[in-house]
Amino acid sequence: MKITFLGTGTSTGVPVIGCKCKVCTSKDPRNKRSRASIFIEEKNKKILIDITPDFRLQALNNNITEVDAILITHSHADHINGFDDIRQLNFSMNFKIIPIFLNQTSYWELQSRFDYVFKELPQLGGGKPMVSIKVLEDYDRFFINDLEILTFLYYHGKLKVNGYRIGNFSYITDVSFIPQKTLEIIEGTEILVISALRYLPHATHFTISEVKNLVKTLKPKITYLTHMGHELDYNELSNYLKDSNIIPAYDGLTVEV
Ligand SMILES: [Zn+2]
Ligand SMILES: [Zn+2]
Ligand SMILES: [Zn+2]
Repeated sequence: MKITFLGTGTSTGVPVIGCKCKVCTSKDPRNKRSRASIFIEEKNKKILIDITPDFRLQALNNNITEVDAILITHSHADHINGFDDIRQLNFSMNFKIIPIFLNQTSYWELQSRFDYVFKELPQLGGGKPMVSIKVLEDYDRFFINDLEILTFLYYHGKLKVNGYRIGNFSYITDVSFIPQKTLEIIEGTEILVISALRYLPHATHFTISEVKNLVKTLKPKITYLTHMGHELDYNELSNYLKDSNIIPAYDGLTVEV
């Protein structure tokens, strides 16, 4: 399995517009974070998790021209607002319809935000994303050909979010509480990707220390952090975590599992 971190930033991206803090003005490319998304290549299948407002540049930077399935965690703008750019994937895949997996709430949100995609239009212009909608339960299991994917529930404040497990890899972003049942499903994960917004507490996001606590009980071989804010300087954070098996990810990082 090959994992590419397309984006590792929180909803604002980093640098934040107008901010002059040391991370936002840093020259370190690992402090430049587009919105959180990941691309997985396994068994000749290409899976995209979330389609962010930065998807177009993420696809260009990482040479992504084909996607076999899109998995959505939740419907916040930073996770679905690249939806219209699916058009170009359809074109480059000879008008193939792309399945998009998401929970019912995310589907309702997607329909209201991108209503033109789901209704008849008098004039199409540049076309519309061609997708087939697959609505997921809180806990579900599905296949992309022979590739098995598990989805599981966790909470982002009060919002229900879907995480995903493919083999020994699990992806959890935008999380503030993980139910026991989900901990049992992700148990045995060797590569965990999880969001950590900053050091200080936040109502809807895990902090660095909350992720450290989770990792102590879950014991993945290696944990990569994503969805990071401008409070986190890459070098400082790496030093802070150097005695753990937790690594901050950065845009463009690829990992072979
Ligand atoms: Zn987010
Ligand atoms: Zn800043
Ligand atoms: Zn969110």
